[in-house]
Amino acid sequence: MSTAAQTRYITVIGLEIHAELLTQTKVFCGCPNTFGSAENENVCPTCLGLPGALPVLNRSAVEQTVKAGLALGCEIARWTRWDRKNYFYADSPKAYQISQLYAPLCLGGGLEVGGRLIRLNHIHLEEDAGKLIHDGARNVTRVDFNRCGVPLIEIVTEPDMRSADEAAAFIEQVRMALVYAGVCDGKMEQGSLRVDANVSVMPEGAAELGTRAEVKNLNSFRHVALAIEHEAERQIRLIEGGDRVVQETRRFLEGTGETAPLRSKEDAHDYRYFPDPDVLPLELDAEFVGRLRASLGELPGARRERYIGQYGMSAADAETLLARKFVSDFYDEAVALGADPREAGNMVRGEILRHVGETGAERVGMDAGDLVKLLGMAAAGEISANNAKRAVALTLGEGKSAEAIVEAHNMRIREDPDALAATVRSVLAERPDAVRSYKDGETKVFGFFMGQCNKILKGSAHPKSVEAELRKQLDS
Ligand code: ADP
Ligand code: MG
Ligand code: ZN
Repeated sequence: MSTAAQTRYITVIGLEIHAELLTQTKVFCGCPNTFGSAENENVCPTCLGLPGALPVLNRSAVEQTVKAGLALGCEIARWTRWDRKNYFYADSPKAYQISQLYAPLCLGGGLEVGGRLIRLNHIHLEEDAGKLIHDGARNVTRVDFNRCGVPLIEIVTEPDMRSADEAAAFIEQVRMALVYAGVCDGKMEQGSLRVDANVSVMPEGAAELGTRAEVKNLNSFRHVALAIEHEAERQIRLIEGGDRVVQETRRFLEGTGETAPLRSKEDAHDYRYFPDPDVLPLELDAEFVGRLRASLGELPGARRERYIGQYGMSAADAETLLARKFVSDFYDEAVALGADPREAGNMVRGEILRHVGETGAERVGMDAGDLVKLLGMAAAGEISANNAKRAVALTLGEGKSAEAIVEAHNMRIREDPDALAATVRSVLAERPDAVRSYKDGETKVFGFFMGQCNKILKGSAHPKSVEAELRKQLDS
């Protein structure tokens, strides 16, 4: 008799990642592209869709899309064009979105995540929509058009991811690539990066992918992971119960972490895409693309290799430094100025990242040169290793120069044998009992005496000198 083996399911994920570009102005008008302005401050006839207003393509938005494509390994199209995607929504006053369907700017590409290649299908450039603000207290909905026309790229992957963790890791790598390329600030909490996750499940060994559902508008790594896990579980439950998964769009419910239907394929929009007559097709020449490629700078992948291969950093330590570009830049500057990569790495991951984490700062509040000085002083035995750390923390907190901090807090090691001898004498005089134990062979108390001396000396004497003086007096 055979027992039915339990079916194992594989989760399949394809992502659509929306990233807002860091242009000065919007993609088809001259309104400022800034976050946090007063409602409807950054609007004009074009982005309000008023009759007669015409879009003019922002060169910088095209350049940044190309840079994003190059950073993600895409091929750049030589000819590209914009299409109208027709639909009505209250935050979209034209009743269409200018997007790209048939000839997107960037093609193919991909990133390796944990040794597996996740392929991109394409990246296209489009305009963002406005925002609806539901004011429950007054029972009204307000519309803010500031975001209308903000340049948005959509990065579409192939269905290559196989777990929520892998999808989250991929998004983080994409986020970093965009931030390093200087085209997006990567702030998911401000909506600069939003993710739609397409999820399906299939029995292990199946030849064809299962039917997918799309979960819209996930704006944190946690939501992405939760939504994918819940969605996969829901689909497996359906199939195991003899039902079928229907292709539909779902939304994520923050409260429960579950997903709920938004619209099904049956009432899917027919967007009636057609070439937008107001925006001309674009031909990109090799020189234009080459110039952008040359301006890219070092990308996270190359930097990771340098940290691990050249500086002997662990993969985890490298990731910690790389996660914030300004921190990684600061570290690189310190190393370029002569800091020991290991010592500098420890200090940046320790004191500096702690400060950044606590204050939410977006820059390191000290000169890389000051870090190099402090590390140099510690290496030369001018200040203790512990005081080097304290000095970094104080420099960050007080915004003074490292040297001023060292002097103000008396951190410099002064080889003053008389003062040291007096300190040791006073420490020993306070605990005759412990001195007796030491002489009876209880050598553990030596550490206690070292600690007492250091408390008083605060790093102003070299630990080796303290140790020698202690031994001298104890053994006499
Ligand atoms: P559509 O044109 O209907 O939007 P696409 O082929 O553009 O469909 O796919 C949209 C997204 O869905 C892509 O990210 C793709 O990787 C993903 N996707 C497609 N099929 C599946 C599937 N069976 N399971 C999971 N994701 C899928
Ligand atoms: Mg699609
Ligand atoms: Zn405008």
